[in-house]
Amino acid sequence: MTRRSNPPVHPDATPPSGIGAGDVAANAAGNANAAAADVDAESILHDVFGFREFRPGQKEIIDHVVAGGDAFVLMPTGSGKSLCFQIPAIRRPGTAVVVSPLISLMKDQVDALRGAGVSAAALNSSLSGGESREVLARLRAGDLDLLYVAPERLMMDSFLELLGSVDIALFAIDEAHCVSQWGHDFRPEYVRLGELRGLFPHVPLVALTATADDQTREDVRRRLGLAGAPVFTSGFDRPNIRYLVVEKRHPFEQLRAFLAERAGLSGIVYCLSRKRVEEVAAKLVGAGVKAAAYHAGLPAEERVRVQEAFQRDTLHVVVATVAFGLGIDKPDVRFVVHYDIPKTIESYYQETGRAGRDGAPADALLLYGLADVVVARVLLEQGGNPEQVRVEVHKLNAMVGLAEALSCRRRALLQYFGETRDSDCGNCDICLDPPDTYDATEDAQKALSSVYRVGQRFGIAYVIDVLRGADTERIRRFGHDRLSTYGVGAHLGKDAWTSLFRQLIHRGYLYQDIEAYSALKLASAARPLLAGKERLELARPRFSTPGEAKKPAGRRRRAGSADAPAALFDGSVEPDGPLYETLRALRRTLAEQAKVPAYVVFSDASLREMAILRPQTDDELLAVNGVGAVKLERYGAAFLEVLREA
Ligand code: ADP
Ligand code: ZN
Repeated sequence: MTRRSNPPVHPDATPPSGIGAGDVAANAAGNANAAAADVDAESILHDVFGFREFRPGQKEIIDHVVAGGDAFVLMPTGSGKSLCFQIPAIRRPGTAVVVSPLISLMKDQVDALRGAGVSAAALNSSLSGGESREVLARLRAGDLDLLYVAPERLMMDSFLELLGSVDIALFAIDEAHCVSQWGHDFRPEYVRLGELRGLFPHVPLVALTATADDQTREDVRRRLGLAGAPVFTSGFDRPNIRYLVVEKRHPFEQLRAFLAERAGLSGIVYCLSRKRVEEVAAKLVGAGVKAAAYHAGLPAEERVRVQEAFQRDTLHVVVATVAFGLGIDKPDVRFVVHYDIPKTIESYYQETGRAGRDGAPADALLLYGLADVVVARVLLEQGGNPEQVRVEVHKLNAMVGLAEALSCRRRALLQYFGETRDSDCGNCDICLDPPDTYDATEDAQKALSSVYRVGQRFGIAYVIDVLRGADTERIRRFGHDRLSTYGVGAHLGKDAWTSLFRQLIHRGYLYQDIEAYSALKLASAARPLLAGKERLELARPRFSTPGEAKKPAGRRRRAGSADAPAALFDGSVEPDGPLYETLRALRRTLAEQAKVPAYVVFSDASLREMAILRPQTDDELLAVNGVGAVKLERYGAAFLEVLREA
């Protein structure tokens, strides 16, 4: 975590005053607000949230805000930004007012907080008049630690007036990039939030976002009156996400194989077009998967239904366009699939970042097909402004480079965001299964010379047919069955040849002429190879489905050998399967009874840890990450019963 620019903010900021006394967790169910005492942030982390330690950056931000400072927090999705205002909210006197752009986001956070025994509520248009009045009464009575509100509600004169008469612990603006027109989620109703800094000069203001680019960041800070506030930013790495890229061949079958290994888990499949979204969703439903489509062309009610069902785990897979994004705050998304290549690394990073926010292992699979790239490029090039086209083509090329990397994907990804890693990650397809290389000189010569002999006027599929000696009307018509290279490549299958051609293209021996319907043409680099003056090593193609990626022997330890807690989160220790499933089933039942999403009971990460460590007593269960006092009281007995029998 780096802290840029220098602090403080409001010299006259309210200092953290001593408040109440006692055990936060015990009081939290009623009102932690009146209780925070000398309870430090650390105790709240342990007792209320049940977490063992702070994630990078959290402690520093929390201390700063508790002390009354403003902050601009720029951390990746899933890094734990919410805690950065939730703990100060509990720790400081008064109610924290949290601005959140979507009702569903508010609801989830409030559910999760209540699940941990924190006094929280939301005020938005989904409440009845009576419910709203009750929330307002609790606000007036100083009975709330956190109040989530929609921006338009917050900025209503009557509401601002009310806030002027109660104790406010802090303002937190979640998804703060919504305030900027540069951002991808601009919300006009966010603009007025800029007045807050001036209206409540003594209340700390925290803005949080995962959006990275400089322009948006500066715009947000300026608009919110945070230009002088420190920026807290952590690295972009998401170590629990396993990056996998697979050559796209029979995408639906590949997807199905991938999902078959992840039955019952939550995931998102991103496609580039609405039409593709509907097709894939329909096929999945036909194949018995609990899946649904989501895109901006669907009626609002349907989108809400899909989102809620996903959140509640009654729907496992959402097939979506990029429109499915902002509202997803689900921490236990276990996989994100890109059925088509995203147009930029930024989108790839953001979309894959929706997996594994809880820190437990998650997969990001990209089905990478050259045809998609060609189509995407053609579409981009039709765009108007040449400068913009140049930028977009460049971004697409960077994405293609990442997909085609034959070295650690995470290193390449982080490098793109300006972060250099010294070592390979051990948790991407390349690290787990480094490509074999072989001497491809002779096959490459055959390929290049066939391209030459058909006059550089045909695409990959045709040239492969010639190489493999296919008996087609077209080949006979052009007399290509009489070429010296006709049939010299019968020893390799179509897929192997396709892979070889792609590598020749990526390495600059061949190029596809888009103007000439993607006909293959020789680049000058091909000459020495054809003349036998150069040898060529290529990666052996792999056509496995992603789940088959072999893991280096001994990398995954068995359950029971868990020593370092960190190992619990990088996927290197696997929980006892049947026990884990039983715990999940128990969680589902309890969540259904309480009418909350499953993760409000316990996160996947907590269940994994239980299945590995097998706690037998209250104290041992409390030691599991994510088990706090209130959850122990509510669910401890039920889970211990299962764990003791295991
Ligand atoms: P963000 O808002 O940055 O995307 P969240 O605040 O939603 O991330 O946190 C993501 C997940 O990480 C949540 O499930 C949260 O409970 C969990 N989490 C946050 N802080 C910690 C921590 N210190 N230890 C373990 N889990 C944490
Ligand atoms: Zn790697």
